[in-house]
Amino acid sequence: MPEAPKSMLAYDYLLVGGGAAGLSLAYHLAQEPRLANKRVLLIEPEAKNRNDRTWSFWADEPTPFDALAVGEWRKIVFRSPGFAQIFDLGRYRYRTIRGLDFYQFVQQALASLPTQFTVLRDEVLTLENTLGGVRVRTVAGQEFTASYAFDSRPPAIEPRPDTYRYLLQHFVGWEIETTRDVFDPEVVEFMDFRSAQQREARFMYVLPFGPRRALVEYTLFSARVLPKAEYETQLLDYLANNLELIAADYRITAEETGAIPMTDHPLPARVGARIINLGTRAGRAKPSTGYAFRRIQAQSARLAAALAATGQPPADLTGDRWQFRLFDTLLLDIMQRQGEMTRDIFRQLFERNPVARIFRFLDEKTSWTDNLRVMSSVAPGPFMRSIAHVLRGRPGQRKDSAG
Ligand SMILES: Cc1cc2nc3c(=O)[nH]c(=O)nc-3n(C[C@H](O)[C@H](O)[C@H](O)COP(=O)(O)OP(=O)(O)OC[C@H]3O[C@@H](n4cnc5c(N)ncnc54)[C@H](O)[C@@H]3O)c2cc1C
Repeated sequence: MPEAPKSMLAYDYLLVGGGAAGLSLAYHLAQEPRLANKRVLLIEPEAKNRNDRTWSFWADEPTPFDALAVGEWRKIVFRSPGFAQIFDLGRYRYRTIRGLDFYQFVQQALASLPTQFTVLRDEVLTLENTLGGVRVRTVAGQEFTASYAFDSRPPAIEPRPDTYRYLLQHFVGWEIETTRDVFDPEVVEFMDFRSAQQREARFMYVLPFGPRRALVEYTLFSARVLPKAEYETQLLDYLANNLELIAADYRITAEETGAIPMTDHPLPARVGARIINLGTRAGRAKPSTGYAFRRIQAQSARLAAALAATGQPPADLTGDRWQFRLFDTLLLDIMQRQGEMTRDIFRQLFERNPVARIFRFLDEKTSWTDNLRVMSSVAPGPFMRSIAHVLRGRPGQRKDSAG
């Protein structure tokens, strides 16, 4: 490896991006005593001092950021026309963490280890593998080298719609405070599919922080984001018709918007020998649901453990199993070509499986037998049609483009 010029500072690990994935990996590295002598540079352009998102997830074990949770629930309810059921989560908990709390918590943890961690407010311009390491150049003109880079910049996907499927989980959510008790603080409205589907998957999602405070979110799995006014109309409709709230009964205290890619487009976990991708960039947003936070923690733990044990990232960077990739592709295919089926598929899943099995399946931890149980709980027609499309290597489009 050519020696780095004197002006280039050399680090062991370079973290590109300090959002969920970059900060999670930094935190896991900080927790690993065997890596205490490593020098880590994290480059992030933003101050991360805004609550730009909340992360919710289910877990049946303690997770590193549980103490930050602003909500924890033991029950969820699933609704679709003619069906509503409250599920006790058993040993699972559903938790919510505010982005800002997470950013501040990890930033403070890193600041307490100044010889190990350097956080730079700058933007990465180029990142390349070199012989035995990586080199990075920033917009401000600084250059650094490191043994490994962990890159969590948002992926630049060039869509290939003839081969892969491209959907979004997109939403607008209002955190509201009401003048009277409206919400059941014990139960998360996980998916409420009772509104018009317009041949897509559209549902309301409600996180009740108390009887008078909740995040109410209109969420879709579909190809295109809507004009903002459309989400707002649906939210207003839900507040008026489902919760019987008129404008004087509530105020909006915060808003959350987002569009998370749901795709089976390959998102490589590695670029060359020394650049490891993280987070959304490494396909950690589950293609069929958009949930990513727990998958990001799992990847961080996996990387930190391997670096500590062997000095290298693991050969298998994600632990993904091909059969779940196939299930994701099939579900994406159905959502893309026959979006109106999605609501029924979720209904069948919730009607015919214990919730723990659904969570384990979505966590990609089910056995072959449980996978068969899950697959046989849903009507086979849409899946058979999608299998045919997938086998032909074509995602296909809706026949009627109006859909
Ligand atoms: C509003 C919203 C709500 C979500 N809610 C949930 C949820 O409830 N549960 C769940 O599991 N998942 C959720 N997700 C999905 C996923 O968990 C998040 O998107 C998560 O933040 C992804 O982590 P990431 O590190 O890949 O991306 P980010 O957190 O976006 O981090 C990427 C970072 O890279 C930085 N960056 C960009 N360009 C450069 C550059 N050139 N140089 C250096 N840094 C750069 C950005 O500033 C950013 O900080 C949500 C996503 C959104 C958008």
